[in-house]
Amino acid sequence: MALPPLRNIYALGRTYAAHAEELGNKLEADPLIFMKPASAVVPSGSVVSLPQDVGACHHEVELALLIGAPLHRATSEASAAAIVGYGLAIDLTLRELQAKLKARGRPWERAKAFEGSCPLSPLLPCAEFPGVEEAELRLWINGEARQRGQPRDMILSLPELVAFVSRSFVLRPGDLILTGTPPGVGPVVDGDRLLATLGEKLRLEISFSAL
Ligand code: ZN
Repeated sequence: MALPPLRNIYALGRTYAAHAEELGNKLEADPLIFMKPASAVVPSGSVVSLPQDVGACHHEVELALLIGAPLHRATSEASAAAIVGYGLAIDLTLRELQAKLKARGRPWERAKAFEGSCPLSPLLPCAEFPGVEEAELRLWINGEARQRGQPRDMILSLPELVAFVSRSFVLRPGDLILTGTPPGVGPVVDGDRLLATLGEKLRLEISFSAL
């Protein structure tokens, strides 16, 4: 089955309790939603040029869900049926800039939506990845293990997350939902090599370089 081309990217935050705790965020029932432009996507094998002079850039490894049918104010059942593909994404985040923007009550785009801020693996049809919730999400920097978790550790299920996004937005085929990150986030610097995997099926490799 051909997957639809990429459209809008909705990213969720505070979906894993353990990550919300590591950043000192209080646990809330509803995740937060922000967007990344589709132009921020870079494929596996890319070299990402990190923004300079804006403080630390953190890796956040996330399961990405590809939507294949229109959804608006959908039930969990309809949302489950509309998920047609899985991917592995890195939500690169300028953590210090994000903290400054938060403190001033400003939106996060400068910290979350910059060029190259969304490395993304090839997308896989759901039928080729049964049991994705139990698969292990892992991330290494220069061979050192940094992040580890499973989608089933999330506060809400995958269909509940999609249904939640559909309450505020009309989802369309090709939209991608980044489902938030497990604990272990940390900085990447020029020269680092990042490897992320989800189970045996999804793999993403990125390196970082100064311009
Ligand atoms: Zn994230």
